[in-house]
Amino acid sequence: MCPCQAKCLMRMIKGYPWYQISECGRVWSLRYRNPRELKLSPNRNRGRYLQVALHRDRKQSTKKVHRLVLETFVGPCPKGMEAYHLNDNPADNRLTNLKWATHQENIKRRKRYAGEVSGRATVTNELAEILRKRAKNRYRGIVTDLGKEFQIPLWTVSRILLGQTYQ
Ligand SMILES: [Zn+2]
Repeated sequence: MCPCQAKCLMRMIKGYPWYQISECGRVWSLRYRNPRELKLSPNRNRGRYLQVALHRDRKQSTKKVHRLVLETFVGPCPKGMEAYHLNDNPADNRLTNLKWATHQENIKRRKRYAGEVSGRATVTNELAEILRKRAKNRYRGIVTDLGKEFQIPLWTVSRILLGQTYQ
């Protein structure tokens, strides 16, 4: 059982005998005396999805965490479908936030959530809220820091922090 608050299920990752994944999207290596949680890293080019490096036969593969959760607890991706984050947060890989869906559905959801789209960055209202909270204690350089951390243009960060209505 997963040590998170929900104490969710953990299962072996198919095809990778040394790894387990939990329903809340955490990945564990069984190569050590005790299961060890792996660090997930954000994919910078594709929408801040989280990914994890798995090893097999001395080869390393990078796997998207949302796909691993769905493949493990739901089943293989049906033809023509893709992963869908219900709350539009690509870093929230709890099973309850995921399903297989069509590309059309994904586009619809993004439009519904998108506050602003500029270049490759989509800023959702939810993210705007997070940025405002983080900026409660302003300091020099905070705009640059937040822009880098969340991979969004600096002018977008400043607009949000200036408190302009965001919809
Ligand atoms: Zn858990």
